Amino acid sequence: MSHPDPPPSQPPQEGEPSKEGEHGSDQMTPETEATSSPIDGSPAEDETLGGAAIEDLERELNRLQRSIRLAIQSHLQKLAGRSFGSLEQNQQMAQSVHSLLDGHGLRVRCCECGHPAILRVSPRAGIEHGAFVFDHTIESRRTFHGGRSVMPELRLVAKPARKKPSAGKKAAG
Ligand SMILES: [Zn+2]
Repeated sequence: MSHPDPPPSQPPQEGEPSKEGEHGSDQMTPETEATSSPIDGSPAEDETLGGAAIEDLERELNRLQRSIRLAIQSHLQKLAGRSFGSLEQNQQMAQSVHSLLDGHGLRVRCCECGHPAILRVSPRAGIEHGAFVFDHTIESRRTFHGGRSVMPELRLVAKPARKKPSAGKKAAG
């Protein structure tokens, strides 16, 4: 039954190496050890284990978040020192960076004062395609630092917790 027949259909002269590596690498089984057997589990001691389990989970998540942060940061490093062709494109890029970071609970770190900030591009006299600025609130005043014509090198930090419990005014834009 298990007699291997060599397939004669492949002429060896064709210099086109198609994917050979995909064959026979079945060792990467995804970890799907779902606890799908409810009969097996013992439901006791949930409450005493709960606190430690959450702590473990938080530690693990912190680790993951840190590596996500570093991964994003190293990708963004490739953009440093560049301009993207026009004011609109620079603004678009800054906006994309911000929404990407915001989605992961991150901010950029201002290169002048170190506060968490939002990267923006503002029109500015003398800088044709706009200035990359760090937008942040320092001592309850909205402040812009930076102002170069190219994307600065970005360091990422965790997004700070909101400090205004009763924000009546909502900044648009
Ligand atoms: Zn600053």
